[in-house]
Amino acid sequence: MPASEPVDIVVATGNLGKLAELREMIGPGFRIVSAAEAGAEMPEETGETFTENATLKARAIAEQTGKIAIADDSGLEVSALSGSPGVHTARYAGATATDAQNREKLLNVLQDVGKHERQARFVSVIAIALSPQEIITARGVCDGTIAFEERGEGGFGYDSIFRTLSGKTMAELEPAEKNAMSHRGQAMRMATKLLADRLQGLGSPPEAQE
Ligand code: IMP
Repeated sequence: MPASEPVDIVVATGNLGKLAELREMIGPGFRIVSAAEAGAEMPEETGETFTENATLKARAIAEQTGKIAIADDSGLEVSALSGSPGVHTARYAGATATDAQNREKLLNVLQDVGKHERQARFVSVIAIALSPQEIITARGVCDGTIAFEERGEGGFGYDSIFRTLSGKTMAELEPAEKNAMSHRGQAMRMATKLLADRLQGLGSPPEAQE
């Protein structure tokens, strides 16, 4: 393959919001393909940590496609709820809950929590499986608070109730602004750097490798 041709990376997600963000963030040397486009099926998320879930998703898609796979496992940790919903963020209001139902539940649960006790953070772990055996992981965190009501039209998931340290909710930020500060943006920048270093190593003559 000529060096200038982009490398296909299959994204282990069925979440269109995440897919769009990862497409925007990926560097010029890579082309993002969805798991559905690659004919791969998402595994069940049985891990107890973001890292376990990101790793198992990336490994499963790399196994099925024979290509490099990338997965994000992410969620919200709310201080007043001792770090919940954590890895259960997507299913907070039930197994088939919509984003709107999840947001509504969180606002209801926190309705009596004062404005100084509403600290929360988004966490993302990105896992890149170069093969099912070789997996790179990187973690990103974004601090903020849970708003009292929804604000903003952009983003996805909990964005409209997550107030960043800038005072705007994530749904009020332009995509590039969100990516510059978000948990996923931070994790992706680290992970793609590790990936580029690794691919460079793979392409080098043996004596130049670590
Ligand atoms: P996962 O797809 O199992 O990792 O679940 C992630 C959960 O966290 C879903 O409910 C997402 O909506 C939510 N989430 C993750 N990242 C973001 C974000 O950047 N904005 C809003 N919600 C997010």
